[in-house]
Amino acid sequence: MDFSSKLLENAVYEMSQLPGIGKRTALRLVLHLLKQPKEQTERLSGALLNLRSEIKFCENCHNISDVALCEICANPKRDRSLVCVVEDIRDVMAIENTSQYKGLYHVLGGKISPMEGIGPQDLTISSLVDKAKKGEVKEFIFALSSTMEGDTTNFYIYKQLNGLDINTSTIARGIAVGDELEYADEVTLGRSILNRIPFEGSLKAN
Ligand SMILES: [Zn+2]
Repeated sequence: MDFSSKLLENAVYEMSQLPGIGKRTALRLVLHLLKQPKEQTERLSGALLNLRSEIKFCENCHNISDVALCEICANPKRDRSLVCVVEDIRDVMAIENTSQYKGLYHVLGGKISPMEGIGPQDLTISSLVDKAKKGEVKEFIFALSSTMEGDTTNFYIYKQLNGLDINTSTIARGIAVGDELEYADEVTLGRSILNRIPFEGSLKAN
């Protein structure tokens, strides 16, 4: 792509660094912003800068939060003995949308993936194990997507909890293998949490 302007080229380059945005789409977005009032670009860049400088992660569940303890963890009505283990905030949002789940979450921040160089130490697994040792949690519900990475992560955590008096379960899958949680419809997802099965049982079924 030949640009008549270095400024335009730089903006297009930065935009094209986003996932799913090729050079052509980046150019279209940048030209769109140029046509809009300057304030729109200022609001967009301001929101992103604020997000990066102000964002916090909940000290209990590691979910993205504006305060030290997120709304879910701070809510006295939530069942603290039940913890749903998910990959990221999109899963929390999907499960919250079902209104079927009243426990807390533990956000791992990803899945174990040797291909992408993500090991257990890159996730919040040690914090999960610490939480388990405190004795308040009675059950961890694994709700990672049923990909090989998800299964590996579930099994790794399951092994780490070995010897602790704690139940592990996995959400029942009305969801096709490989589907991500955020794409599951609310009814199916809500039901799959209510109809969860013991994790050990899910291993024997494989
Ligand atoms: Zn929290």
